[in-house]
Amino acid sequence: MGAWRVRAAAGLAALLLLCLPAPAQPARGEPLRAVATFSILADLVRQVGGAHVAVTSLVAPGADAHGYNPAPTDSRTLAEAQVIVVNGLGFEGWIDRLIRASGTKAPVVVASKGARTIAANPEHEHGHGHAGHDHGAGPDPHAWQSVANVRVYVANIRDGLAKADPAHAEDYARNAAAYGGALDRLDAEIRDTIAAVPPDHRRVITTHDAFGYFGASYGLAFLAPQGVSTASEASPRDVARIIRQIRRDKVPAVFLETIADPRLMQQIARESGARIGGRIYSDSLSGPDGPAPTYLDMMRANLAAFRAALGPA
Ligand SMILES: [Zn+2]
Repeated sequence: MGAWRVRAAAGLAALLLLCLPAPAQPARGEPLRAVATFSILADLVRQVGGAHVAVTSLVAPGADAHGYNPAPTDSRTLAEAQVIVVNGLGFEGWIDRLIRASGTKAPVVVASKGARTIAANPEHEHGHGHAGHDHGAGPDPHAWQSVANVRVYVANIRDGLAKADPAHAEDYARNAAAYGGALDRLDAEIRDTIAAVPPDHRRVITTHDAFGYFGASYGLAFLAPQGVSTASEASPRDVARIIRQIRRDKVPAVFLETIADPRLMQQIARESGARIGGRIYSDSLSGPDGPAPTYLDMMRANLAAFRAALGPA
């Protein structure tokens, strides 16, 4: 009777285990289920996680994360996640509610934690500062446009993966260190390329204020008719200001962001006489067959577009 009781108890325990929600750590041989909010972050998680991590991006490549409208499947994806990686700095205004609604117990890694932030461009604060509007106040969320900050992102991702999956902590540390070397080479390449652009050509117009970190790190001046979020449209006053500035400063080129409607920049190019300098990647990678399927590719594609449009003549 005693043995039967023990067996029954063991059976009951096994049954209970089967009914428990997804384990916090991956089962042996199974990859860690990681969810990143957008494609650039998903790539960084993939670089650090390697074969031990299966990464899903909520916002697809080419889509705009600012005004993202979560799909019902996103809630399920989060519920099944074992670790969630977000940018933070107010970039994903929709994520907190989605996490709460999903009931997920997965730890949330804020990739930008400890990054050196800059304030949102104050140009967009005056003139249309209705109470409750989201632009103007707070830090610029596009911290990944500085390679130095991506080193911080990678360290946070490494630590987050190691905590969620301690069995592979050494591999995560090794991958992060190797990727750090690739970031160093990218950083040097950007500096060399910008150094070859004549100083009076180091001015770039983009659709929204997504390149503040790139500008601060590498010495290019960026202007945009839209603020740090794409949620509010550029006002006629913003557009007129940009056109005046392009004419006054003889800005050579305006660029089309892949996540944005090209018509605004085409209008600005037409009215200011500036050339269209090609398509650049601000808040999203390209698809796998495009020119920017990874962060390193994205930064190099943008750099090539800036170099081609800005000179040396
Ligand atoms: Zn943006």
